[in-house]
Parts: sequence; C-alpha cells; structure tokens
Amino acid sequence: MTGENHAMKAIAIDGPSGAGKSTLARSIAKTLGYLYVDTGAIYRTIGCFTRENRIDPKDEAAVLAALPRLRLEITYGADGLQHMLLRGRDVTEEIRLPEMSLCASAVSAHPGVRAYLLEMQRRLARENNVVMDGRDIGTVVLPEADVKVFLTASPEERARRRMLELEERGTPQSFETILREIGERDWNDTHRAAAPLRQAEDAVALDTTGLSFRQSEEALLRIIKERIPA
Ligand code: C5P
Repeated sequence: MTGENHAMKAIAIDGPSGAGKSTLARSIAKTLGYLYVDTGAIYRTIGCFTRENRIDPKDEAAVLAALPRLRLEITYGADGLQHMLLRGRDVTEEIRLPEMSLCASAVSAHPGVRAYLLEMQRRLARENNVVMDGRDIGTVVLPEADVKVFLTASPEERARRRMLELEERGTPQSFETILREIGERDWNDTHRAAAPLRQAEDAVALDTTGLSFRQSEEALLRIIKERIPA
C-alpha cells in the first residue's frame, strides 16, 4: 500500500466506461466485506458542480478556482453504499444523469483536479480494505494495490449495457447516441496528458464481452483469490 498501514488490502479495478466496473466492484466488495469506492462518482460530483454554476468544465483555471467552494464529501450510509455530498447536499442520484458524464470526463482531464482528489482516495485505502474502481487506480492512485484488474468489453457491448441501465433509470437514450458518447469518453480518457486510462503492467486483463454478470463475477473472484488467499 502507498500508506503506512500495510495491513489493509486494496483491489484496483480500472477500465473504460461501461465495462461493468461499478456493478462488479460493488458486488465483490459486498462478498469480501470490503469498502467499495467509486472514484468516477467523485469526478461526476465536480462535473455536477460546474454544470450547476455555469462553469466551463474544460476551463482548468475556472474549475480549480471553484474547488475550495465545493465542500466535497464521501460518506457511507447504513446500507454501506457510497453517497456524494456537494456543499452538504446529497447528489448521489443526480450525478448519474447522462449529461453529467461528459462534464465529469472534461473536469477529470485537469491535473490540478486529479491532484486535489488523490489524497482523499488514498486515505480511504489506508483506513479500509477497499475495492476501488476508476481509470487510474492501479497506475496512479494505488500503485501498490494487492490486486489490479483491467476490465474491458467491446464498445458495442458496453453501449448495450449502458442502454439497459439508462432505460431502468427512466432516462433512455438511443444506442447510437450512447455508442457515440462512449467513443468520445474513451478518446478523452485515453488521450489526456494527466493519468490517462491505460492498463497497469501488473494488472490482469478481464474482457467481459459475451460473459454474463455471474460469469464476470466468478472470473473476477478467481483472480482475487489467487492473489489474496482467504
Ligand atoms: O466511472 P464513471 O463513468 O462514473 O466516471 C466518470 C468520468 O470520470 C470518466 O469518464 C472519467 O473521465 C473520469 N474518471 C477519471 N478517473 C477515475 C474515475 C473516473 O478520470 N479514477
């Protein structure tokens, strides 16, 4: 681990949007009794703030100037689920709206934003056994994680899953729109200078295209059990 406490275990799950990271990470965290940390939700919360305050998410200076006003907090409810607070307001649901995704992707490209969030993420891993998902967990945030998994699926499969998810949330979008947005986010996330999305050298790649949720979960647990024997 990056901190002093070597007793804590960390499982880092990175990969592109819609590869199933959050659903799988949440589920295995529950199985293992670890804390699930959804780092995308943190970037989404900053994206949400810029939208509400009419700040251009691509304007690094403006976003950085606003950070001290955010009062960003991560809390865990009695249900064990992660909640995001923005100036004391619970925005957990709001940050899932489709329009927040590109704002999150834009703010996450700024090195100053990433640096601001680094210690918050590392502290959670120092104090808890975690399953943390994101884009740079294995490469930057927790380079000494016990297990690193790079989760992928084809863009079409990811768009299909995202379409079902948005339908269930009551905010449907067309397959074409979703596929285009996934392509745009993939490009942003892999081409930015600051902590771009890439597979860590010591990460295990898991492609879930064609796998059911159960099969993906089993494959993930197998990878973990090889590295963290019970
Ligand atoms: O994972 P999720 O889709 O919720 O993340 C929203 C956006 O936040 C991503 O498109 C990505 O640009 C950014 N992100 C990041 N680093 C992380 C997690 C998310 O840059 N560790």
